[in-house]
Amino acid sequence: MKDYESLRSAMVRYQIEGRGISDENVLRVMGEIPRHLFVPENMAGSAYEDCPLPIGYGQTISQPYIVAVMTELLELKNDDLVLELGTGSGYQAAVIAGIAKFVRSYERVPELAEYARKNLENAGMSNVEVICSDGTDPEPYGDGYDAAIITAASPDIPEYLFPLMKEGGRIVAPVGGYYMQDLAKVRITGGEPVVTYHGGCRFVPLLGARGWKE
Ligand code: SAH
Repeated sequence: MKDYESLRSAMVRYQIEGRGISDENVLRVMGEIPRHLFVPENMAGSAYEDCPLPIGYGQTISQPYIVAVMTELLELKNDDLVLELGTGSGYQAAVIAGIAKFVRSYERVPELAEYARKNLENAGMSNVEVICSDGTDPEPYGDGYDAAIITAASPDIPEYLFPLMKEGGRIVAPVGGYYMQDLAKVRITGGEPVVTYHGGCRFVPLLGARGWKE
């Protein structure tokens, strides 16, 4: 039996805090969430390593550091309502849900949606709703989302999400090519999007109506 707690604190200390993430909520939650429950059982021993891992269906759970970078960029507060496109294992959703009030996450592969629901339940997270459908065609939610994250490579800045966001809302998404992207952040300010870029990254493609064609 591995000492997951020690592996997890080493991950936070060296991979996350050591590389400049300072958001106290991100550091706390990534130190709490049992990431080994979000990877296939035979890979649990590698769950706290500095890399993405395969979760089946050609998809991956992202490297811990990129999860931390994206979560910090979302500037979450504890009463935020958050949208995610690309549930995958459910780990990123769990990290957000450990800070925010509620996460609605879309996953297009039915088996992964089911896998994520099970993982989230095992981790004791009850404030995430996983919807199995094309996340590039999302339903509006209440008065709007405070934050949105796309954890798959988007061909363009996701303008279709703008009407779903509250004033002051933040959207974080890898945008650019099929293989390489730049991490974009959009802030809705005075009803207008303000876009900034935060470095190169590499995600699996967002497939669907406003994503890449299959
Ligand atoms: N956030 C995940 C990693 C995401 S991998 C985690 O923490 O584990 C990207 C995921 O996006 C894959 O599961 C893929 O099936 C899903 N995906 C791709 N295009 C999608 C779309 N249009 N709508 C919803 N999910 C999509």
